[in-house]
Amino acid sequence: MQRGEKPVHWCTECSSALAEAEVEYQDKVSKSIDVLFEVSKSSLEKISSIFNLDLNKRCSFVIWTTTPWTLPSNVAVCINPKLDYSIVERDNEYLIIATDLIESCSVRWGIDLKDLSNVKGNLFEDIALEHPFINRKSVLLQGAHVTTDAGTGCVHTAPAHGLDDYFICKDNNLEPIKALNNKGFFKDEYENIAGFPAFKADPFIIETLTSSNALIHVENYEHSYPHCWRHKTPLIFTSTPQWFISMDKAGLLTHGFDELNTMITWYHNSYQKDHLEKLKMKKLADKLLEERGELEKIQEKFTKEFENLANKILDSKCYLQNN
Ligand SMILES: [Zn+2]
Repeated sequence: MQRGEKPVHWCTECSSALAEAEVEYQDKVSKSIDVLFEVSKSSLEKISSIFNLDLNKRCSFVIWTTTPWTLPSNVAVCINPKLDYSIVERDNEYLIIATDLIESCSVRWGIDLKDLSNVKGNLFEDIALEHPFINRKSVLLQGAHVTTDAGTGCVHTAPAHGLDDYFICKDNNLEPIKALNNKGFFKDEYENIAGFPAFKADPFIIETLTSSNALIHVENYEHSYPHCWRHKTPLIFTSTPQWFISMDKAGLLTHGFDELNTMITWYHNSYQKDHLEKLKMKKLADKLLEERGELEKIQEKFTKEFENLANKILDSKCYLQNN
């Protein structure tokens, strides 16, 4: 058993995490918002040269989310290195979104967007962004999980509230920020929403975004959303301290596989074959590693013996020369 933190489905009314089987899906109307993450002054020159444009106005990456309450826990914005990103103009500023989504953003925001220049996402490296209403930076990261299914192609990333977010931040050594306490309520330092359960903060976050001039668009969004099977209320996805059973620390995974293989009668031969092959490969790999260890020990032993022998020869050579 080990203690760890990882986002899980959480019911604030049960005050506990829910297992997959306890989660029910029901329709819910959320607020979907398009939010600006302004490029930091230190990164503006880099963005100018990437697009080969002289950027003399505010320039921002635009994210789209249906969970405004997770914004205080934002630490990054993810883009896909393989997608094309365009810089477009709106009123008196520049916006960066996925090229494939210009048209749908145009329709959603009710403005004409002209593609001024576009480049591949992999060109954006070491770009710093400003959090829209908290005085701290947000990092621009590249991740293969970003798609153009909806939104802007730039993904708001809060490792405390999403699994993709959790893993990509772990890979990039970015620590999660948790605006909620372990019971699912906003911590005291988040002044106007302190003590609120997650969703109750949404209107206040939207208000703050508006007054910070960081909100492009807000609309109602109906989607299928996880609910508590007891309370029939919407769940939140949040990281709380949990006990996990480690599958690799005590060899539980390997042991489990071995057991499964002896206990189960496989009806699908090809799967059994495939499964056995994998197991064999793993065992072979373990054996090779073990053998490599042995070889290294033997090599070490021989090196020492060789050195001793060489020293002895040198000694006797000196003795012969001197006498
Ligand atoms: Zn509940």
